[in-house]
Amino acid sequence: MSQKTIVSQATPYGYSSIAVIRISGKKSMAIVRAITKTKNSLKDRAPTLLPVYDENNKKFDISLFTFFKNPRSYTGEDIIEISCHGNPVICRKIINRVIEEGGVLAKPGEYTKRAFLNGKMSLSEAESVGLLIASKSEEALNINLKNIEGTTSRQIEKIKDSLLECLSGLEFEFDISEDEDTEKTISISIKSLKKLVLETRSLVLSFKKGVAFNHGVRVAIVGRPNVGKSTLMNKITQSNRSITSEIPGTTRDTVIKEIIISGVPITLVDTAGIRKNPGAIEGEGVKRTFSEITKSDLVISLFSYNSEPVNNIELNKQILVYNKSDIKKNTLNKNSAISISALTGIGIEKLEKKLASKIKNLTSETGSQVLVTERQRQNILACEGFIKKALSRLQADAPELELVAFDIRAALLALDSFLGKNITESVLNRVFSNFCVGK
Ligand code: GDP
Repeated sequence: MSQKTIVSQATPYGYSSIAVIRISGKKSMAIVRAITKTKNSLKDRAPTLLPVYDENNKKFDISLFTFFKNPRSYTGEDIIEISCHGNPVICRKIINRVIEEGGVLAKPGEYTKRAFLNGKMSLSEAESVGLLIASKSEEALNINLKNIEGTTSRQIEKIKDSLLECLSGLEFEFDISEDEDTEKTISISIKSLKKLVLETRSLVLSFKKGVAFNHGVRVAIVGRPNVGKSTLMNKITQSNRSITSEIPGTTRDTVIKEIIISGVPITLVDTAGIRKNPGAIEGEGVKRTFSEITKSDLVISLFSYNSEPVNNIELNKQILVYNKSDIKKNTLNKNSAISISALTGIGIEKLEKKLASKIKNLTSETGSQVLVTERQRQNILACEGFIKKALSRLQADAPELELVAFDIRAALLALDSFLGKNITESVLNRVFSNFCVGK
């Protein structure tokens, strides 16, 4: 890591009562003293009001400076936070002055990357910082905050401890011990590895929950032309973004809206109606509808007294809904379909409850530890694979303990990668490139 002192605005661009600019690195204090013409260094964690001068010695703001002395700071380096008046011209001038005095503009995620490299947090915790900022619901906030506080990292450390214990037992057997205790060591190891398979499996499954809360669940509204898809979309979102019309086939493209149900962000997609013999332009929309059905986590399949349901939708994804019940009651399909009227609102609450319970199924993985990135899932999946391999070797007749130890070491390496130990620069860069500047 270069020792450059970095600067960027931590708050969004625009006009506000206060904006925050953050400087991190060895030169932080020297730079601040230069731009404020202050002789003394700032006291650690004691906010100080100081004037800020431009290159012509002209005062252009009075800002509050807070010094966080290393290593007790976010990055582990000297940090100075400048709370200035929230005006873009002032912010730009302060950042320019910092750069003139030897700072450089921070790259996306560079503060958090430094925090990770300086041992302030594990890589999985660092990943959750980005996700916390992007969280769209209270539940997502909870998951990401827990991860930042190390809930998942701690469980990974515990799994590592169990694996190390197994490993040292087995190594003892093939290095030192004579026959008698080997059986006992093997049976203890089998028991312990079996437990770890369950733990890693549950972690892998928790990724579904992590994705749902952080990135949302995709719900498509699908049905024949004119069955009421756009009307339903509007009813659910309480807006008028999709166009309702008497003419069949007007929604040729997909219309997307985001809502929150049970704390989960939902991407609601209104699709082109599927007619049996679509025209050329319509045909393209229909193709997109089918690709949308594949892409979506759930599908609201609408039908009515004069339009049958669309075929070939995966049953476990599908919520079958009978619309226009205000005109005619559902006599075709009494049991499985929810009856609604998208126009009058009858049954909408029931449909939303059904949606909420389906979403709950998607997100109801047990345990408070939740994996939140594909990188994390891949590492735990690899770890699980090696543990299973070790287990099956141990359960064979006359197990080769050296090979079992080899698998356990591989499982441990996967967990180290999860935490960010021994990982490559390119993995690191990929993790932090998703961050915004200033974090
Ligand atoms: P889409 O092509 O499936 O998106 O259908 P629209 O939402 O455009 O609706 C087609 C027509 O059916 C419009 O005139 C709507 O007002 C009407 N419509 C939609 N839902 C209902 C309903 O529950 N009851 C009645 N009576 N009319 C509805």
